[in-house]
Amino acid sequence: MKIVVLDGYTLNPGDIDWKGFEKLGEFKCYDRTTTKKEESAKILERIADADAVITNKTPITREILEAKPKVKYIGVLATGYNVVDVAAAKEKGVAVTNIPTYGTTAVAQFVFAHLLEFCHHVAHHAQTVKDGRWAKSEDFCYWDYPLIELADKTIGVIGFGRIGQTVAKIAVAFGMKVLAHDEYVNKALETDSIKYATLDEVLSQSDVISLHVPLFDSTKGMINKSSIAKMRDGVFIINTSRGPLVVEKDIIEALESGKVAGYGSDVVEVEPILADNKLPRTKNCHITPHIAWAPKAARIRLMNIAVDNLAAFVKGSPVNVVNK
Ligand code: NAD
Repeated sequence: MKIVVLDGYTLNPGDIDWKGFEKLGEFKCYDRTTTKKEESAKILERIADADAVITNKTPITREILEAKPKVKYIGVLATGYNVVDVAAAKEKGVAVTNIPTYGTTAVAQFVFAHLLEFCHHVAHHAQTVKDGRWAKSEDFCYWDYPLIELADKTIGVIGFGRIGQTVAKIAVAFGMKVLAHDEYVNKALETDSIKYATLDEVLSQSDVISLHVPLFDSTKGMINKSSIAKMRDGVFIINTSRGPLVVEKDIIEALESGKVAGYGSDVVEVEPILADNKLPRTKNCHITPHIAWAPKAARIRLMNIAVDNLAAFVKGSPVNVVNK
């Protein structure tokens, strides 16, 4: 079997290995191909005569599937598989697999990296000490921002799936109350500190709102001028899910007015971020370059699942197929 990885660099920039795939067949890995559907010629050239195509963000369109009937398997190196035309793949009998879970704890931890930055501004204060300000200070301490204690604050978790539930556990450890919103309610997950709530209750009663719904038509733009208007003044919003859940111009306006005290986001509408995106230059806004998923331990887990997915397909008992 010929296996080609179209864009392996972000999963493995060199600190883990591809051995699992190499054992399964003739293996070729490209660091990057393209993220643009229009550049299909390049994608077709790279696929060559492969049987199994592994992609992260390189699009696999109907046109590509039609031009490459030898391809029988597409392994997506991520949870979200919108880069593949799964309906076209199904029609053509091509199995598409994803990695349903590998980074739950990493992403949940990252929510608090953003939140704690707003609470304490550690990097800023450490820099003032490096710059010699503490040594010259008249007082034994100083701070440049209001310092925030999370205990007794309410965090609204929108999307109470794997990551949302893990965020809730960490929040409870900080002494926070959790309002969880999900389209499916599982009352067994409620505790003294974690209660389900409607979306409006979450919006209006939370000090911090953390987004964990997937990007669907129904969730696109859910954080917008009118939902922000329902929120508490000075709310913090953390987005580790998908950029388009938030209407960026509305969040910029809310940050500028102070309605939203902080927006910490690992994702933006168009990635990589466009040079003229105003978010990173907006006050109280911290944007990170989609790294929540990427601690080495999580990437190794992802790699192992990707290899197991292909091995299971080869054995004739495929797992994690998203287009059955
Ligand atoms: P999950 O499927 O376990 O949970 C998603 C939850 O959202 C489900 O419980 C679902 O019922 C709920 N939901 C869906 N539509 C809803 C709606 N309209 N209203 C309310 N609830 C709704 O997924 P997960 O593993 O927790 O991941 C959540 C998201 O995190 C992913 O979709 C992905 O976008 C994002 N993610 C980001 C990174 C990163 O590196 N930043 C890494 C992994 C995942």
